[in-house]
Amino acid sequence: MSDDETVEEYLFKIVIIGDSAVGKSNLLSRFARNEFNAHSKATIGVEFQTQSVEIDGKEVKAQIWDTAGQERFRAVTSAYYRGAFGALLVYDISRRATFDNVARWLDELNLSDFHLFAFLLKYNQKTKAHSDTTVARMLVGNKCDLENTREVSLDEGKSLAESEGLFFIETSALDSTNVWTAFEIVIREIYNNVSRKVL
Ligand code: GDP
Repeated sequence: MSDDETVEEYLFKIVIIGDSAVGKSNLLSRFARNEFNAHSKATIGVEFQTQSVEIDGKEVKAQIWDTAGQERFRAVTSAYYRGAFGALLVYDISRRATFDNVARWLDELNLSDFHLFAFLLKYNQKTKAHSDTTVARMLVGNKCDLENTREVSLDEGKSLAESEGLFFIETSALDSTNVWTAFEIVIREIYNNVSRKVL
């Protein structure tokens, strides 16, 4: 970025969680680089990618973390969640087991609120942030291009999201359906949450 112009810039950490092979890496690569990898494991060793979204004339940068396959070993640690202001909780609409496991991922996220709380308390000293800022959560039913092998209905996704207080969207990283929108909603919600309290 050039020094001669003043751009108000915000950077928020967002995590993507969910069972293995639901399409987390591809959602991220579609959003950050507009790429799709049919045989992916390209994310091994990559911790996060950034993408900017303009909100109310301001550049809001999202630093989005991918589990890089660690969820397979149940090895997503608290460091992964620490400081996250938003989360995309992904299942695969063509594999019911991944939807059934959403509850487990939600539990992990709820525990992680503690880390956000601790983070904000630290932050508080400088910025007078309120410590009741919550993690913006979105439930994402990915692979909606696989209509023929769908195992989880749109309504089931919607009602789970409603009962848990989550945003909800169905996406396809393969054909780009709603991918940008999913991230944008979360980023906007974080921006609104935080700007009311901090900025
Ligand atoms: P992750 O383990 O959750 O990060 O999942 P990946 O992004 O590695 O994707 C797992 C597999 O699902 C790969 O073979 C992808 O090509 C495929 N995949 C990911 N997203 C989609 C999608 O939206 N539609 C379809 N049909 N396949 C997808």
